[in-house]
Amino acid sequence: NPTIVLVGRPNVGKSTLFNRLTKTRDALVADQPGLTRDRHYGLGRVGERKYLVVDTAGFDPVAKDGIMHEMARQAEQAIAEADVLLFLVDGRSGRTPHDEEIAARLRRAGRPVLLVVNKAEGMDRAAVAADFHALGLGDPLPVSAAHGDGVRQLVEIALAPFPADEEPAAAADAGPRVAIVGRPNVGKSTLVNALLGEERVIAFDMPGTTRDAISIPFERDGKHYTLIDTAGLRRRGKVFEAVEKFSVIKTLQAIEQCNVVVLVLDAAQDISEQDAHIAGFVLDAGRALVVAVNKWDDTDDYRRERIKAEIARKLNFLGFARFHYISALKSSGIGALLKSVDAAFAAAMVNLSTPRLTRTLQAALAKQAPPRHGVFRPKLRYAHQGGSNPPVVVIHGTALEHVPASYVRFLEHTFIEAFKLQGTPLRIQFRTAH
Ligand code: GDP
Repeated sequence: NPTIVLVGRPNVGKSTLFNRLTKTRDALVADQPGLTRDRHYGLGRVGERKYLVVDTAGFDPVAKDGIMHEMARQAEQAIAEADVLLFLVDGRSGRTPHDEEIAARLRRAGRPVLLVVNKAEGMDRAAVAADFHALGLGDPLPVSAAHGDGVRQLVEIALAPFPADEEPAAAADAGPRVAIVGRPNVGKSTLVNALLGEERVIAFDMPGTTRDAISIPFERDGKHYTLIDTAGLRRRGKVFEAVEKFSVIKTLQAIEQCNVVVLVLDAAQDISEQDAHIAGFVLDAGRALVVAVNKWDDTDDYRRERIKAEIARKLNFLGFARFHYISALKSSGIGALLKSVDAAFAAAMVNLSTPRLTRTLQAALAKQAPPRHGVFRPKLRYAHQGGSNPPVVVIHGTALEHVPASYVRFLEHTFIEAFKLQGTPLRIQFRTAH
């Protein structure tokens, strides 16, 4: 999926545009209790096209020192990894010296830049265009992030040069595409080496650019898998070594491209915000998930209790996933981890028949009907499958907009239980019969 990166000085409306661009693809996920969100990275969709959005809000690309400098470094990384940069300026305040500094930086970025004039509602387009043309970044595109004017066209222009995505359709014998993700130093490269150590690594191509994650096909116990690396691995003799810094964008891309995520956590440390953000992104993307709590060899009883309590408190929205306590370094727990990957993949790709889904729906309704909402009484009539990875259950009926989020979660839970789907989230979609 193409990565769109938003750049601009403070107050030009980057966060407002970010929110427009990432209007959650599935509003129901938003109701997941405990799910923390990182407002700087999000997924968006126009029609069938998916894209990733990074907001560099709070990053000052021209800061020279301190915390601002660290943020600037992150902004630099996002700019370097962008497929397209949206440079936002403010039509109301006109062109400023700060805009000019950023423009100078972006002209050197060597990435495609679209100049976007925000807050342009009701303004004279010709005058705005003339003012910002002087930035030397081509014709400005006027939008109103707050009102939504011009946003869809903007996304279409931004994405036009990129080929439409292919869904990660797993050929039956190619097995699951598995992304190993986690923050730096949790043991991702060590786990990749443990997985590949004694296994037959099938030849694979190194990517042309360092921005692309590598895919490493391998076989274990006669089964095929493809690992999608996010640690920036390079092969050195028999082992893989990380040669690059952690990249959030690469992590999010890998999550989007895979069938099953293995989220690696470090048992020796508390759950950080970054862990929770990555986990939240997995849930947003609807991927199957297995959690590997690594460095279990390096923990005492106190630490083990503590990390379990931390997980229960901070990652409570990952209840659908199986947790494994492993040591990548000592290669322990790896076989069981892969079994859960298999199970999660099977669950994510399951075929659910309409009669069985409808029977399960009827049983759920018999047990607990959706509550009446004022004069509205939602009627749920029948269900069929609307997609895989994650499985989507489409429910037909009337007054469905009045079904509360808590009841949707009850339905999700009911289908997960009824079909014994271990390791994948499940989505419910409502379709109103007319
Ligand atoms: P990455 O940044 O997530 O790829 O992490 P690495 O695989 O480079 O590991 C970071 C550090 O943790 C290295 O020093 C590893 O040797 C160490 N490490 C990785 N897995 C384990 C483990 O299972 N147990 C212990 N004790 N250390 C580990």
